[in-house]
Amino acid sequence: MILFLDIDGVLNNTTYPRTVGTVKDFAEFREDWWEKYDTPYMCPDNIKTFVNFMKQIQFQKDKYEKIYCILSSTWRAGGEDIKEKLNYIFKDFGYDKGDIISGRTCKLNVFKNRGEEVQDFLNHLTKYDIISPIEHDAFNKNYIILDDDNDFLEEQQSHLFLCDGSTGFTQEIVDRINKWVNVK
Ligand SMILES: [Mg+2]
Repeated sequence: MILFLDIDGVLNNTTYPRTVGTVKDFAEFREDWWEKYDTPYMCPDNIKTFVNFMKQIQFQKDKYEKIYCILSSTWRAGGEDIKEKLNYIFKDFGYDKGDIISGRTCKLNVFKNRGEEVQDFLNHLTKYDIISPIEHDAFNKNYIILDDDNDFLEEQQSHLFLCDGSTGFTQEIVDRINKWVNVK
C-alpha cells in the first residue's frame, strides 16, 4: 500500500497553538521545536497517533501488505534532508521499525494540483525509484491519501481520508482507514 502524507493540517493543526498556552508559550514551543528538529512546528498528539497507527499496521501485513509512505505535502520542498528530518521525528516519538517516509511526490509546480501529483506518482511508480515494477499494479489500486485539503481527482476520492485542519490526524481517521482496509 502507498500512503500519501500531507503535513500541515494532518500532523499539525490550527487548534494546537492555543492548547500550548499563551502566544509567548507557543513562540517558545516553536523555537524549541526548531532547535530540536529543524522543521516548522508539528503537533505531538497528531504525531503520536500517526506513529501508533504505523506501528499497528506492521502487525496486519495481510491487510496492508508492505506500506510505502510518500510525502505529498509542500514540505517535500524543504531541502534534500526533509525525509531524514521527518524520520528522525517519528523515531523520537517511538517509531522503532525503521524509516516511515520512503520518498516524495514530484517537484512543486509541475502540476496544477495535488491530485495530479499523486496520479503522476501512481502512473510512473518506477520512475520515482522506490517501487519495483512487480509491485506496480497492486499499488495502483491500493493507496490512501491523508490530507486536509481536497484538490484530488474524482477517481481518487474513495482513497482520500480527509482530516480536519483544526484537529489533524486523529483516532477517528485511524478507525475510518481500518474500516476501509477491512471491507476493501
Ligand atoms: Mg495540508
